[in-house]
Amino acid sequence: MLKRYDNHHVYQLEPKTQQQLIAINILESKADQDAYTFVDSAQIIGQSVHIIVAPKYLPQFKNMLRTANFTYQLLSENAQTELEDLELEDTPQRAFDYNWKKYHTLDGTYKWLEMLQMQYPQFITLYTAGYSYENRKILAVKLSKGAVGPRRSIFLEAGMHAREWITPAVVTYILQQLLTNTDRSINVMSERYDWYIVPHANPDGYVYTYTVDRLWRKTRKPHISGCFGADPNRNWDYHWGFIGSNNNPCSNIYAGSRPFSERETYTLANFISTFKKSMLLYVSIHSYGQYLLYPYGHTNSSAPNAGELKHIMDAGISGVKQRYGTVYTGGNIYDTIYPTSGTSVDWAYGVAEIKYAYAFELRPSSKNYWTGFRLPANQIIPTSEETLDALIEMIKTIETI
Ligand SMILES: [Zn+2]
Repeated sequence: MLKRYDNHHVYQLEPKTQQQLIAINILESKADQDAYTFVDSAQIIGQSVHIIVAPKYLPQFKNMLRTANFTYQLLSENAQTELEDLELEDTPQRAFDYNWKKYHTLDGTYKWLEMLQMQYPQFITLYTAGYSYENRKILAVKLSKGAVGPRRSIFLEAGMHAREWITPAVVTYILQQLLTNTDRSINVMSERYDWYIVPHANPDGYVYTYTVDRLWRKTRKPHISGCFGADPNRNWDYHWGFIGSNNNPCSNIYAGSRPFSERETYTLANFISTFKKSMLLYVSIHSYGQYLLYPYGHTNSSAPNAGELKHIMDAGISGVKQRYGTVYTGGNIYDTIYPTSGTSVDWAYGVAEIKYAYAFELRPSSKNYWTGFRLPANQIIPTSEETLDALIEMIKTIETI
């Protein structure tokens, strides 16, 4: 039975002082994960935060707003209305039944990948890239269409945060385009490079979003406190726990008990390490906000090849705009969104030494209310098309360096 958000209020808060930021962080670490649902996390003074408040906690919450003297807006008095239709497709029976008109279950996508491997054994190889706490596979698909011989590879990782449904949808669409589209600009990219694609880096979390709580973000390992999971994108072993994460297991940005405490990140990192020498470009796909970001997240000092990273990012930002006029902003993670540490993109760059590493935050824009994780399914294809456009422009630019 899916959790309902009837009469949950949605607030937008703008912390203006350090004390207000601390007040929000205390709420975020509350043991009762049903009380407050954080749409985004409070890291910076002046950056707005969206919080969904359960009805019985409203008096306490309003009291906090008054005491801490917050500027706020009440955006909705019933969060459930925004979560009414999951737009979720049944498991496909045949490979060509799989489409991008709606979102898919984990089983539906995994079944489609297995059917693709049977249909195109010469191009498609499936790997079990890792395992989740609840023992689900983290599947990686390798697309290799070029002539026999070694070549560089591109790695796309999606679904790290469970509720960001657009991200597995986009990478599966990109896979299908690379596999079947005969357009020259796409064909060049699918023949010149091997593509590794992981649609679901956090399968337990994803299943939980359509069986229990659509707004779940983390993994699902239980803690003694009664709270569940860690933020898998704060758990990688590179400047772990340094900044922009939380050491309370109830927090939505809990870094885990130690680097790679989560089976998902540990096993996936091992998989990436196996192929890292071939990797030209690592891309971690998230939503939302329309950002294209590069390392570092843990510090504002420049990455060694920051000039190149920015040059390639600029090409990506113009690529993403060319079809539908979608406007992205970009830069290093620390300055452009907020400080974070223990992210996969920083690890890919700093430890796996993949020279070009990026994170996308897909549609909608950050100004887009609080419903960013519920991107309407009719935007799956346009979002996928513009993301592939961006990747092609980025790769073309890397080729000129
Ligand atoms: Zn994310």
